Amino acid sequence: MRINRVLILGIDALEYDLVEKWDLRNLKQEEYGKTELPLLPNQEPATVIIWPCFITGKIPKEMGFSTIHVFPQPIQRVVEVAYPRVRKYLIDYNAKDITEKKKGKQSYLDKFANWLNKIGLTHPPSKSDIISDTLFDTIPNSIHFHVPVYDNDAFPAYRKKVVDAIENPAHRPILEIQCLQEFKQRTKEVFEWLERKDEWDLFMQYFFVLDAVQHVFYNNPKKIAKFYIMFDEFVGKVRERIDDDTLLLIVSDHGQKKGIHTNYGFYSVNKPLGLKNPKLIDFRWIIEELIGR
Ligand SMILES: [Zn+2]
Repeated sequence: MRINRVLILGIDALEYDLVEKWDLRNLKQEEYGKTELPLLPNQEPATVIIWPCFITGKIPKEMGFSTIHVFPQPIQRVVEVAYPRVRKYLIDYNAKDITEKKKGKQSYLDKFANWLNKIGLTHPPSKSDIISDTLFDTIPNSIHFHVPVYDNDAFPAYRKKVVDAIENPAHRPILEIQCLQEFKQRTKEVFEWLERKDEWDLFMQYFFVLDAVQHVFYNNPKKIAKFYIMFDEFVGKVRERIDDDTLLLIVSDHGQKKGIHTNYGFYSVNKPLGLKNPKLIDFRWIIEELIGR
């Protein structure tokens, strides 16, 4: 098996159990499964922590941060030591759905964290908070779009409106249109760069849309299925257009059920790699080895 190129489709919140339930063959590819995430005990996976772990191949502490808001260094290093010890007293992760979660201790912690952000003590993580190198550093011909934290434009402008639309049903139709727009624009980018495949060895595209859809329409499986099928058809078209020497990796940072992130991810590949319950942070090293760095 000769691999010269790797195409990564990072699909936020792609849920293993739903891919299985609806038997989405294109998403499953030749090999698929759950991944183990770099989490503290009982931690709900956070998008802004897991994706940087994926591209660095490191656990949060070694990647740079395990909190969703970050203090300036060297304070964050102290937080990294203290946080795993105190968080079990701060968080209850037994909520069954998103409404219950909002009533729990987590909501007070979120409010406190937002306040720290507001007064400028912390900030949302950005590229400079990632203290490890990434697979984009070791593979020179890399192209990446919208990767959370790493790329500035990772999250679409409507991300803030997701929270709003969960509470206010009147805002949901607009949000759905924005989700469709994101899907259209980002799939278009993939097809454009597939035409220009001589210009890259590694290409990663990230999609936020499924996370948004599953938060807002968490009690509407038909709506969720519509978006899953869109992704499945998109992957089918991608699979037709890639060469035999290209590894297609589909990967998620967590799944989602009833609006709550599940504590495992999804992966699939178009070549049998024989992986058994891989860790999400293994993929950086697998990719580097496959394309010979
Ligand atoms: Zn996510």
